[in-house]
Amino acid sequence: MQTMNFRIGHGYDIHRLVEGRTCRLGGVVIPSPSGPHGHSDGDVLLHALADAILGAVALPDIGHYFPDHDPACAGLDSRLILRRATAEARRLGYVPGNVDITVIAQTPRLAPHMEAMRTCLAAELGLPANAVGLKATTPEGLDALGRGEGLAVHAVVLLQSIEK
Ligand code: MG
Repeated sequence: MQTMNFRIGHGYDIHRLVEGRTCRLGGVVIPSPSGPHGHSDGDVLLHALADAILGAVALPDIGHYFPDHDPACAGLDSRLILRRATAEARRLGYVPGNVDITVIAQTPRLAPHMEAMRTCLAAELGLPANAVGLKATTPEGLDALGRGEGLAVHAVVLLQSIEK
């Protein structure tokens, strides 16, 4: 791999919202009548973040490491996906420097849960909370996301080289 002090990565994911599913987002359970569909626990935020980390070091996406046809991945805690991504980056000599995440959701209302999600993300990434940007925006009723049919997340990450 080309040696650089910093590597940038972007991840995107979108999941359908399904009635009766637990709504797990950013490693936090959010009270909601519906939750993101998925072979794993459906944590669309952690999936986008893991893909951003893998992308920063030019590795394949999370589907390569956790195939959605693998019975072992059924109901998987997505924090394990994030930990695998950070472990792969570390193996190549990089650790997270900061992240910036945008959740696009008409529903559920996320504002009361943002700090809990930031705290969880910071702990998982080994970062101070002030290195974890987390924002939510609504699609203002537009399209499928606006009808509350799903959740989408964009994540950007900066990795820094472990070498001094
Ligand atoms: Mg996903």
